[in-house]
Amino acid sequence: MATITTRAFVLRSIKYGEADRILHVFSESHGCIGLFVKAAAKKSRTLGAAIDPLSLSEIEFRETEQRELLPLRSAESLRLFDGVRTDLEKLSQASFWFDLLLHLTAPGVADQELFRLTELCLAALDESEHGWRVDLTTFFEFHTLRCAGYALGFEACLGCGASVDDAQPVCFSISQRAVVHCQRCGAQERNGRPMPRVLRALRACAHGVLEPDDDCRPAEHLLRTLLHHVLGRTLKSEALLDEMSRSM
Ligand SMILES: [Zn+2]
Repeated sequence: MATITTRAFVLRSIKYGEADRILHVFSESHGCIGLFVKAAAKKSRTLGAAIDPLSLSEIEFRETEQRELLPLRSAESLRLFDGVRTDLEKLSQASFWFDLLLHLTAPGVADQELFRLTELCLAALDESEHGWRVDLTTFFEFHTLRCAGYALGFEACLGCGASVDDAQPVCFSISQRAVVHCQRCGAQERNGRPMPRVLRALRACAHGVLEPDDDCRPAEHLLRTLLHHVLGRTLKSEALLDEMSRSM
């Protein structure tokens, strides 16, 4: 069986028995995978923070037939994101992002685009001077959903395909992941109303790079509704995220 060396974000680290650990990582080469770290306590000097949650590490593991938990051979920390670790507001955001990766990506399937996006967003969060960057969370949520196959259609009417005009009443059909906008297609009967800020926020997310003037926040509620529709429940990390948001 091949030995794989790849970069990975440690999403979760759980103690197993006296000395072992189970890691859930988002890797560049294999997407989300579970790793078994035998005698992690004894190896703490060599592994250090490389197996702690939030670390970006270079890991080495062996592929096995049994894909549940792969044995970790070594790990070396590449970046610790201390600016996120030491700031509860930032940490609440990163925890939510990692929950999104754990619950929305297909296990064992690489997604280079999402990996790169995670790296960029975490670096931006780590380096940001303002603790609270809710924009980044909305942006990350939009793209994690999109990469997982849940892109929200907002450019064209679901009924007739006409392009969306900010001034027209629009309504979102979450079950069909699309916007219904023109009167003929029933936006008004479905309590549609003009939502120019939400549409602009979605365009800002879709643009792929956040500009200083972009405001993604108006799309936050809509994306969260889509997330709950997809998962059928709320995520644990949302409670702290929302608490932080309210206290700002
Ligand atoms: Zn229409």
